[in-house]
Amino acid sequence: MKKMDNSIKNVYDNVISRDPNQPEFHQAVEEVLDSLGPVIEANPEYIDVVKSMVEPERVIQFRVPWYDDEGVLNVNRGIRVQFNSSIGPYKGGLRFHPSVNLSILKFLGFEQVFKNSLTGLPLGGGKGGSDFDPKGKSDSEVRRFCQSFMSELWRHIGADLDVPAGDIGVGGREIGYLFGMYRKLANEFTGVLTGKGLSYGGSLIRPEATGYGLVYFAREMLATKGKSFEGASVAISGSGNVAQYACEKVLDLGGKPVTMSDSSGFIYDSSGIDREKLSWIKDLKNNRRGRIKEYAEKFENIDYTESKPEPNTNDLWATKVDVALPVDVALPCATQNEINAAEAQLLVDGGVTAVAEGANMPCTPEAVECFLTNGVLFAPGKASNAGGVATSGLEMSQNSIRMNWSREEVDSKLEGIMINIHKNTFETAEKYGFSGNYVAGANIAGFLKVAESSLSQGIL
Ligand code: NDP
Repeated sequence: MKKMDNSIKNVYDNVISRDPNQPEFHQAVEEVLDSLGPVIEANPEYIDVVKSMVEPERVIQFRVPWYDDEGVLNVNRGIRVQFNSSIGPYKGGLRFHPSVNLSILKFLGFEQVFKNSLTGLPLGGGKGGSDFDPKGKSDSEVRRFCQSFMSELWRHIGADLDVPAGDIGVGGREIGYLFGMYRKLANEFTGVLTGKGLSYGGSLIRPEATGYGLVYFAREMLATKGKSFEGASVAISGSGNVAQYACEKVLDLGGKPVTMSDSSGFIYDSSGIDREKLSWIKDLKNNRRGRIKEYAEKFENIDYTESKPEPNTNDLWATKVDVALPVDVALPCATQNEINAAEAQLLVDGGVTAVAEGANMPCTPEAVECFLTNGVLFAPGKASNAGGVATSGLEMSQNSIRMNWSREEVDSKLEGIMINIHKNTFETAEKYGFSGNYVAGANIAGFLKVAESSLSQGIL
């Protein structure tokens, strides 16, 4: 914790004493509160907003029973955190992963409030999910799980109330099953989920949006130093939705992606992951649901490194010999806390110019500090990965007016939104004395809109 003003420090202490076992949530709250000192100094009345914002408006927890293919009953836990609706309906993804718990969903929901505010669209913040692991499950098991999950969630969501989307473990297949069950139970066809298939209300570019938006943001950030993606070598972690489309946009802009990973390990391809190899990865991950290790068996001269068994480690960032990854840009796109301080230092030693978070909070606070003190351009996920939720907002708009926009139309709106988020975070940081610090810029800019609307409506 940096030098927080006393009133803010009290809020943080209360968060810890109220829920002492929620470390990820504490981390997310601390990172935001650290930036708000100058804002509270200028507007002391905003402290009441801060006090209320750290408590979700509502948390729903429920049982999700489902039978596996052997006829055995499994019981998972479902949760929806409806964090803040002062600027629009709750909006945020659903995560299906064994690590899911209330701390992780509260951290994600809290981040989402600021991210959604930054998009400039009328979207509140929420997050949900389950400790269900779709990995290794048959299609029928995933369908039965999704139907059971929605048989409770449906009564708590709605097109003007709460609009969930995908996240880790929830892609097009899961959204389809969830939407089908909602439609049957609610007996209406509305835009209640985003990330839907194109044949039933989805938006073009939604699958690409987070990865594309991330690279648009990083491009803007590089441009402030007169640099670009042209010829830059780029490390990407993960090989899911965000990673795949970040890789595609890096290629569009003339960069050279050299790594990808999954929770089993990572590949390093010094000759670069080109379009043909990327399309092979998409097929491996999206259709065959295989492991990234197979890339090293398919292509020549690839290094593959198996991950160590500890949870939440992504050994890509330490490399197998603990030497610096020689890359110009790093795009962590897997999961929270995957880059620690030592790994950040390795990236710095390797000459990294810019780090942009595709995942939510993939860099620990110490890693962020390391980048900032070493003059590395650093984009926090709540700004740089906001393209996904922004395009979900565009999907909601299309559903409301019962129209579909073209690929070019959606992509250009997405690009415009990312350019605006970059400008807004850059200028806000400048205005409040945090020049060049996108973390502070994003926290403050995201906060101001929510604070103004909360006060205008009376804190509820
Ligand atoms: P996917 O499930 O499509 O992909 C996640 C990738 O990260 C997979 O390659 C997965 O490997 C890897 N991964 C997950 N957990 C771990 C772990 N503990 N250690 C190492 N690797 C891991 O998810 P998305 O691409 O959608 O999401 C990735 C990140 O981006 C998340 O932080 C998410 O919250 C964030 N995000 C996503 C958005 C979206 O629109 N999808 C929007 C904004 C943020 P494996 O398959 O082996 O599990």
